[in-house]
Amino acid sequence: MQKRLVILGSGESGTGTAVLAKMKGFDVFVSDFGSIKQEYKEVLDKNNIAWEEKRHSEDLILNATEIVKSPGIPDTVPMILSAATKGIPVVSEIEFAARYTDAKMICITGSNGKTTTTLLTYHILKNAGLNVGLAGNVGKSFALQVATENYDYFVLELSSFQLDGMYKFKADIAILMNITPDHLDRYDYDFNKYVDSKFRILQNMTHSDYLIYCDDDEVVTRELKKRKPDVNMLGFSTYHSLDKGGFCINEQFNINLFNTSFTMSTLELALQGRHNAYNSMAAGIAASVLKIRKKVIRDSLADFQGVEHRLEPVIKVHGIHFINDSKATNVNSTWYALESVQRPIIWILGGVDKGNDYSMLNDLVKSKVKAIICLGMDNNKILEEFTDIVPTITEAGSMIEAVRKAYYLGHNGDTVLLSPACASFDLFDNYEDRGHQFKAAVREL
Ligand code: ADP
Repeated sequence: MQKRLVILGSGESGTGTAVLAKMKGFDVFVSDFGSIKQEYKEVLDKNNIAWEEKRHSEDLILNATEIVKSPGIPDTVPMILSAATKGIPVVSEIEFAARYTDAKMICITGSNGKTTTTLLTYHILKNAGLNVGLAGNVGKSFALQVATENYDYFVLELSSFQLDGMYKFKADIAILMNITPDHLDRYDYDFNKYVDSKFRILQNMTHSDYLIYCDDDEVVTRELKKRKPDVNMLGFSTYHSLDKGGFCINEQFNINLFNTSFTMSTLELALQGRHNAYNSMAAGIAASVLKIRKKVIRDSLADFQGVEHRLEPVIKVHGIHFINDSKATNVNSTWYALESVQRPIIWILGGVDKGNDYSMLNDLVKSKVKAIICLGMDNNKILEEFTDIVPTITEAGSMIEAVRKAYYLGHNGDTVLLSPACASFDLFDNYEDRGHQFKAAVREL
């Protein structure tokens, strides 16, 4: 009997999954509770794939053999609960599409640094001439690329939500950047559940596979001691040296692997700051595992173009430097921003709080921040935390107002940093919209 694959959510990943499933002979149905973008409707129609929008019709969904759910849909929505009661397996795009490719999988997860490390790894592999695809949370749908390309390698960015829908998938090289509280609203405010989710990246891996991990991250190292995975473990650190893995100490970048070592000055790295040293090491170690030539790795780490909205310098206006770090949607990423940016800082933060604990920022804020501008619908938590710590704290109701207030408070040599530590959905469409509005407002000054 023909298997019926129902896809919930028709964004980039859902539409790609539909195309692949159709190609593989499934009876495919796509259902989106919101509206489907015109470009995706056209793809579905062109491939004769049935779809619906602005509703989920139970009778067309709960007769599925399997459901592929967009990572944005929580497990607790009624349709997913009903599918679970009926015993219909619910998986992610990555789980489904990986069945149809033999490509080697280099998978990156963590709370922060995923996109940067994914793009950096891809950049090195591409420069080395490998036949490699880029997918996951970035770029084109993985499933669509499995359907239309024939890559030997994939570099995949995996969020915890994607990992939650993965069961049989196996990474050949896994990179675990760090684990700090994020998205707790989707994990019953239980950090352990979020940690378990991240560790799913290790499932099905064996002793011939590689785990590249941050040896400075307390949660990661504690869990590895406990879980003792049977894989080759390669750590990286900015505090201590490692015989196998990478370390960055005294402005020297090192990778030791297969009895050879690779070094370069950290000043040559395209991406600066401690967090980016981690990202460069992770990508460099993955490339070394794949035996890519040292010169290619060195050149690629040196000429990589930064990623928009991640500590992105905008312009200087009257000597005031404006930096867009809109992608900092949790406290930890903002910690790295405050650490790496020159003082005095005028800091714009706020938005949708995902269960934030701001106290870890206090020391940095005391020593580096001269003024705070709260940009969110509800700023109470931020006001409570920082009012006694910074000389000036004020609120703004729009990006234009925030940027103007920051400019007014600034002097030659100051840095205005947008690093919100929060999601953006109260005042903006998404973090990209927030970053674009910031840059536009700065350019208007
Ligand atoms: P992700 O894809 O995990 O959200 P990004 O590479 O998009 O990660 O970066 C998100 C935010 O985190 C940015 O503000 C960036 O400056 C910061 N960041 C980047 N790499 C790291 C890291 N290794 N550790 C902590 N913060 C980081």
